[in-house]
Amino acid sequence: MDKELLEIIDNDKKYYMNTFGDRLPVCFTDGEGIKLYSTDGKTYYDYMAGIAVNCLGYGNKKLEEAICAQACKLLHTSSLYYIKSQAELAKVLCENSFADKAFFANSGAEANEGAIKLARKYFYKKNEEKYEIITLRNSFHGRTLTTVSATGQEKYQKPYSPLTPKFIHIEKNNIDELKNAITDKTGAIMLELIQGESGVVPLDKEYVKEVRKICDEKDIVLIIDEIQTGIGRTGKLFCYENYGIEPDIMTLAKALAGGVPIGAVLAKDKFCAFEPGDHGTTFGGNHLATSTALCVLNELLSGGVLKNAEEMGAYLIKSLNNLKEKTDKIKEVRGIGLMVGIELNEPKNKEYARKLFDMGILVGTIGTNVFRLVPPLIITKDDVDLIVEKLSEVLKG
Ligand SMILES: *Cc1c(COP(=O)(O)O)cnc(C)c1O
Repeated sequence: MDKELLEIIDNDKKYYMNTFGDRLPVCFTDGEGIKLYSTDGKTYYDYMAGIAVNCLGYGNKKLEEAICAQACKLLHTSSLYYIKSQAELAKVLCENSFADKAFFANSGAEANEGAIKLARKYFYKKNEEKYEIITLRNSFHGRTLTTVSATGQEKYQKPYSPLTPKFIHIEKNNIDELKNAITDKTGAIMLELIQGESGVVPLDKEYVKEVRKICDEKDIVLIIDEIQTGIGRTGKLFCYENYGIEPDIMTLAKALAGGVPIGAVLAKDKFCAFEPGDHGTTFGGNHLATSTALCVLNELLSGGVLKNAEEMGAYLIKSLNNLKEKTDKIKEVRGIGLMVGIELNEPKNKEYARKLFDMGILVGTIGTNVFRLVPPLIITKDDVDLIVEKLSEVLKG
């Protein structure tokens, strides 16, 4: 380990609250494409993209120029005044989705908080007591107290009780359990179409269509959490396009501004129940974040990045399935586009991921037997070939 890294680790251990456990012993300083360079001058190929955030990879000139230009002009004014890029970003998102209106926050959890408040306000305004919200077991919706309550994983909830009440967790892909969970107090169902943090598990198409139908019949708000699946991750701008349904409310964050913090709540007019004073934010949707997001969307929609994500996603999944045929170590390859899970037959993902790290390859691990790949959307065919080749190498042992 180089001296600079040792100092960084020393400071971190002394002064930073350790919520992440032992991190991989590396600190990056710079990058280009999908490559990251560390303090000790090594090169790493990144298939995690800062947890599905860095959709344009590293060193994208247009993104850098957009950020620098805005940073030199104006960062923030608060939403007491009109913001050109905020209005434009809302327009671009609405024109390219099911939504009629958008609101901006600073993170995924905060966007989900906004979505939950919006659904509750929708019924409050109608004078209906429909405050129960159904979510799925093994879901992930964030770390604030209410989004932890929405998250169907006890390990994230245990230390923080009492939680926000009236969240009900059910089994995914089980329509009977959903029907049984619905009461006259059910106001919303909140879903990830691909469960990202619990193993990259796409929901069944038939299930999602049925959920949509039930929501329409019973005046239940369908909230789709596209914080990880949105912004081109699955080869479509939004993952719901793969499912042939539309949400009522959708949340975005991670990749929306390519690494600058932002979150978004999008909704159909009918559900835009917020009135002046109901909700707010100091930073949310400021000049820097929204002008950066506009640049990202332009690269996706006009710069060919979305098309690349679709093509490279299909190629990655095909190549991994070919690898699966050649080894007995892989149980399943799943996912859509460039959101891919590789389930192993043995609980050895950490050991293999560490070997890949030593070879200069960054992948994600979930539990003990799943790899998660969520690379930058600008990934090339050579980059796909590289990860498949290196995986093949480490799985051989
Ligand atoms: C990452 C994530 C969140 C939380 O986003 P933060 O920005 O970390 O608050 C919520 N939902 C999903 C599906 C996510 O992947």
